[in-house]
Amino acid sequence: MIKSIVFADRLDRKFELRAKVGEYLHSTLARNHIPVDAVVVRRDGVVVDDWQERIDESAEYRIEMVRAYHLPDFLSLTRLWDTELSSGEWQTRPDSFYTKRHFMHSGQGDYDATQVAFNRDEYVQYAEQLFVDGVHSKGLISPGERILLAVSGGKDSLALGYFLSRTADRLPAFELQTVHVTTFSKPLDTSFAQSMAEQFGHPLTLVTDDEVRDFYHLRVSPQEALAEVKYKHDASFSIASVHSMMRCSIERAARNMGITKIAFGLMREDICTSIIKSMFVGFPFGGSYRKRQGQFEMVYPLWPIGKKELTLYLEALFPSNNKQGSPVVFERGELARDIHYMIVDTLETILPGAGFQLFEGHQRMVDNFLGLPRHKECQNCGMSFSVGVGAADLDAGVCELCRVFEKLGVLA
Ligand SMILES: [Zn+2]
Repeated sequence: MIKSIVFADRLDRKFELRAKVGEYLHSTLARNHIPVDAVVVRRDGVVVDDWQERIDESAEYRIEMVRAYHLPDFLSLTRLWDTELSSGEWQTRPDSFYTKRHFMHSGQGDYDATQVAFNRDEYVQYAEQLFVDGVHSKGLISPGERILLAVSGGKDSLALGYFLSRTADRLPAFELQTVHVTTFSKPLDTSFAQSMAEQFGHPLTLVTDDEVRDFYHLRVSPQEALAEVKYKHDASFSIASVHSMMRCSIERAARNMGITKIAFGLMREDICTSIIKSMFVGFPFGGSYRKRQGQFEMVYPLWPIGKKELTLYLEALFPSNNKQGSPVVFERGELARDIHYMIVDTLETILPGAGFQLFEGHQRMVDNFLGLPRHKECQNCGMSFSVGVGAADLDAGVCELCRVFEKLGVLA
């Protein structure tokens, strides 16, 4: 059963919201994108605890803002509320496939709102141009360069393959090698990585379990070592461990080929999440578009593109190709990761374009104020790692994962 309740702002304008009888008041607020700390709620004139209170059919509720800002106007402008406050502001088109929206700093300290709608074909052109512009504007590829691309065998690798091959004439000419780490990948992803390499004509190097075991001097398989980390050390360290082992393998492959530039398929949300996380935990994140890591330069050519945009790109090109498998088992179960992604997705919902601003702002902070950590090569696995941050002290000879492996007794 639906009940209408009143929202009043500090201009004493009143808006009618719908609440479900029996639901938590907190859910009503959240569903209507009302920040819970921006309001108090009165039930029949008396303030109630919105976390505890369930909507009572016979009570009268009034939500009041505690601070004066134009929340209803902003929520209407971003279409989180459907009110007359912003009616007629946005154009529509019947064949629209995707509408790109931006709220960006205008330069005068305030925000400008823009939007462009694309049909399916226009969207493919748009996404490819976004990719090309992203590479050029940040100088991610130089003519004649050799680049090693890390491929997961998932949707992101596929999209990157199409971007690279379909926009080759608009990019500098370069030599591309690809590498796929089979450890912690599903066989299906590995065979997909192989068929993509064939399809796009990108030479592929596979790094196998035995090689990873050798890199780390493990006396057990990489999977067994990781299970030790998960169950005997710290479950929340297991994703970081997988990433570490992947990066070690990729760096090894690059070193074998004499390549110093490595491209990863990180997308907008991945990079935003890394920035948010770095600010929450006080651990440096090297750069929004590229970062220097020891002897390597890491670049993220998909930086301007969000996961949804990438999904739509594949959908627009080949609807049947676009299937995503379930994540591998070690990628599950870390609440922090879910929270950081949700914060980033929510930020982008209430402020489209927030990611781009975060990138520029973060890059400026890194360049002007923060500086970057020094890197060392791990004496056990050979991976480059940051020193003087997190758990790694300045005179550490091995990376954090190798220290954990040592402690767990899995090194030979
Ligand atoms: Zn190491």
